[in-house]
Amino acid sequence: MNMPELDRRVVGLRCLVCGATYRLGEVEYVCPHHDDVGNLDVLYDYQALAEVLSPEMIAAQPDAGIARYAPLLPISRVDSLPPVPVGGTPMYHARRLGEYLGVPHLYLKDDGRNPSASLKDRASAIAVARARELGREVITGASTGNAAASLALLSAAVGMRAVIFVPESAPEAKLAQLLIHGAEVFAVRGSYDQAYDLCLEASRKFGWYNRNTGYNPFMTEGKKTVAYEICEQFTALTRLNLPAILGHRGDWVQASSDRWDAPDRIFVSVGDGCIIGGVGKGLQDLQRLGWISRTPRIMGVQAEGSAAIYNAWRAGSEQVTPVQPTTLADSISVSKPRDPLKALRAVRETSGSMVLVSDEEILEAMRILGRKAAVFAEPAAAAAFAGLLRALAEGTIDQEERIVVLLTGSGLKDVRAAIQATGGPHYIEPSLASLEQALGG
Ligand SMILES: *Cc1c(COP(=O)(O)O)cnc(C)c1O
Ligand SMILES: [Zn+2]
Repeated sequence: MNMPELDRRVVGLRCLVCGATYRLGEVEYVCPHHDDVGNLDVLYDYQALAEVLSPEMIAAQPDAGIARYAPLLPISRVDSLPPVPVGGTPMYHARRLGEYLGVPHLYLKDDGRNPSASLKDRASAIAVARARELGREVITGASTGNAAASLALLSAAVGMRAVIFVPESAPEAKLAQLLIHGAEVFAVRGSYDQAYDLCLEASRKFGWYNRNTGYNPFMTEGKKTVAYEICEQFTALTRLNLPAILGHRGDWVQASSDRWDAPDRIFVSVGDGCIIGGVGKGLQDLQRLGWISRTPRIMGVQAEGSAAIYNAWRAGSEQVTPVQPTTLADSISVSKPRDPLKALRAVRETSGSMVLVSDEEILEAMRILGRKAAVFAEPAAAAAFAGLLRALAEGTIDQEERIVVLLTGSGLKDVRAAIQATGGPHYIEPSLASLEQALGG
């Protein structure tokens, strides 16, 4: 694929707070004027990109993962990406679930099917690629669990040293992932926010490359690939009337088309706000390239027990007040969101909206997804679907709309929550009599 030099594609970095712009390489992470909150947006030359790139060319890419969009990523070379298949996750037309809900055009994008079983791999792949291109030898991150597990796996894929900070409350499966991939793991006796701040201090002191969400501007650029996939796969699914599509097979439909279709609405769960900001960025890229003609409404879903961004959205403000998080959905349990501006703007600029869900609704959403759609989602992922249920119950969306629910992580990440959602098995004696009694009872 024709890949112009990086500095011809990426023309700068713009501060979301003050609008100052920087050349690539002039600042590494955030705008120096606002004490770690001046997140940067990566700016592209869309005109130059549209001249060398088209949906037909993407359709002809043999790689089903994020590498198929390489010219739209802030990396110099495709082979800087770790050699594991990140992205290209399946999207389903969830017909049985849709019938149950009276929403005939319901699609699930299952990003739990990434190498480390969450969407975070899309960002970590870019972090590792950037670190390699910059010649950095150590990479670090703080995380509620999934970003860390992802960073550990992708560092292992290229033999890079990873130093990771997690709150001591991280679920066991996520800790196990970190350890098995050989990361140096520090379980901080404190909250995610404290682990995050310690990680920032350490990376400054020791010169480690920092992957932190809402700090490293390139994480949004990795996460945005999920929006590209949603539109590319949605086009193939709807034009071919397929029930499901893995990666991007269906190329022949798209090969004859210079445009993609977009759904009407995308539901996304929100913690720090980086994923939803990435979805917004990806859609904005496609619109600026002229590959989609209208942008879906982005629906942000937060847990009632961790609603800092929702509160700011409700107040019509960009001022975010920290909360004391209490939700069981650990991946969206955040006191001080690190990427609120990208999140709030993604919702507002697409005429979307935000929804709150309780932990009970999240557990119910996990059960329904498991039973009616055969997808096992972790609580933070099921929260997005719980948001759809809530919006339907409140009658705020039209049931004929074409709706995508982004499922961000696998249920195997947190089996305790799944068991809490379902109750246990039936315990019986090893006899037919005992079985019959249980069946009858
Ligand atoms: C990180 C994560 C989220 C939330 O993403 P933010 O960028 O923090 O808003 C949601 N679901 C899962 C499974 C995650 O790992
Ligand atoms: Zn600034």
